[in-house]
Amino acid sequence: MRKMNTYGMAGISILFWPAYGLLWKRKERRRCIILAYHHIAEDPCTSYDVSLDRFKYQMEYIHKHCQVITLDDWLEGSGRLSDRKRNVVLTFDDGYESFERHVVPVLIKYGFHAHLFIPVDFVKNRGEESGSLKRMCSKHQANRKVMSWEQIGNIDETVVTVGSHTMTHPRLGLIPVQDLEKEIGGSKIILEEKLKRVVRYFAYPYSLRGGRVDSKRESVIRRLFIQYHYQAACTTDMGFNRHRTCPYHLRRIQIFKDDGNFMFKSKIRGALNWLGKLQKILRRFDLLKNHEKGGRR
Ligand SMILES: [Zn+2]
Repeated sequence: MRKMNTYGMAGISILFWPAYGLLWKRKERRRCIILAYHHIAEDPCTSYDVSLDRFKYQMEYIHKHCQVITLDDWLEGSGRLSDRKRNVVLTFDDGYESFERHVVPVLIKYGFHAHLFIPVDFVKNRGEESGSLKRMCSKHQANRKVMSWEQIGNIDETVVTVGSHTMTHPRLGLIPVQDLEKEIGGSKIILEEKLKRVVRYFAYPYSLRGGRVDSKRESVIRRLFIQYHYQAACTTDMGFNRHRTCPYHLRRIQIFKDDGNFMFKSKIRGALNWLGKLQKILRRFDLLKNHEKGGRR
């Protein structure tokens, strides 16, 4: 679906825009937009990179038009939720050094808080054995190093909440069930030991929770979230969240390299949420299986 023509999606968005504008009036507190970023780069390479200039524009737009909240705010229904402005949670996956270099200064400038999801083995190997990263962008490998424990530990926890992005960044729908505890529970234990912080949030690697997840596997994953005291988990299923949305299946809006200003605003307004509904239907009929196996992040 990501290959769908950008202009085509923009055109459909125009049709949905006025309707969403009306529906959103005085309902902001009831909905939460979770944005998912990966690598912020001066020289973007893969579709998951966002250029520094675009990122700065997007954060300025959010500063003017939205209320940045945390997952705590959303789950607790805190007083920080805005009635008037869209409530936005910022998340960043994979722990690239660009987060420390480019993202943290912008967060501090605007007084934003963000969630950073770390795959433990990426930090341990610093990208040296992270084959998926190398395959993604061999040309720019030097610029997409993952942060060290020391770098992550030095980030102010009043600005950034660290969460788990598993141990080895696998597709949770495809690995042996007995490995799920290491990925979900083991990663949390190591993160807490290394960073001396409590880890309460999780982000599934890859699209749609990493393949078709059967109900038995789903119940194992949910039991592990409860056993290890996770409060919520973020997917890459597209859409906004309501208070009735399962906290272990929060939807996110991914921001990609080719998202221009219009596309970004359309995503913030929910004009592309129909793609999430389409994902759901295709998954129900098992039509996304090949896409998910070939998908990344
Ligand atoms: Zn990832």
